[in-house]
Amino acid sequence: MIEVKRPPEPGALKRNGAKWKQKLLKAQTKREKKLAKEKYRHSDVKATLVTMFGGKCAYCESRITHLDYGHIEHYRPKSRFPKLTFEWSNLLLACGVCNGAEHKGGQFPDRAGGGPLVNPCDDNPSDHFRFQYDPDTKLASVYGTTTRGETTEKLLGLNRHWLRKYRSEQVRKLVALARFARSDPDARVLLNEACQGNAEYAAFARTLCGDWSINDTRSGVGRGL
Ligand SMILES: [Zn+2]
Repeated sequence: MIEVKRPPEPGALKRNGAKWKQKLLKAQTKREKKLAKEKYRHSDVKATLVTMFGGKCAYCESRITHLDYGHIEHYRPKSRFPKLTFEWSNLLLACGVCNGAEHKGGQFPDRAGGGPLVNPCDDNPSDHFRFQYDPDTKLASVYGTTTRGETTEKLLGLNRHWLRKYRSEQVRKLVALARFARSDPDARVLLNEACQGNAEYAAFARTLCGDWSINDTRSGVGRGL
């Protein structure tokens, strides 16, 4: 997970958000509620989130868009916080696994339960997690360094089997690239690209480069190499 800067609210949400919210809060039947709730799936909202997160899951940093449409994720679940269904600051892009019933689903632990979850737009994830590659096991793991980080890692399954397996394969290549980058300009360019916000598992690349100053998916070339 990396810090992501939130762009201005999409026009469709700005124009209609208050109206959609009123409609949802007034809905009586199950069907009325369902129809009113679905408005957040507006193409303008989705497109803005896809650009904002570089087509990646806000939580696990896996690229979504070449495989799936991705979920418009409610950081505070809409089932428990219906007033925040159309709140721009509550919307993220997530993969179906992080956002699925086996992981986050409708859960949102409070402070007493070890929460709230780390939010890539409101928190700096590097304050809550350690992104570590172990050369012996060849595993790239995410460890919580705060209570909130630990809760987030466990609830979202940030070290779940298939995610860690694929991520470890990618990070292993980055580790080799970082070695070559000391002397090879081409390798340095590739490592810079791996640190950008739209690159998969940029948190690990930034840890390898020791550079957490990049926090914008549109932020040009990485520094500190
Ligand atoms: Zn995910």
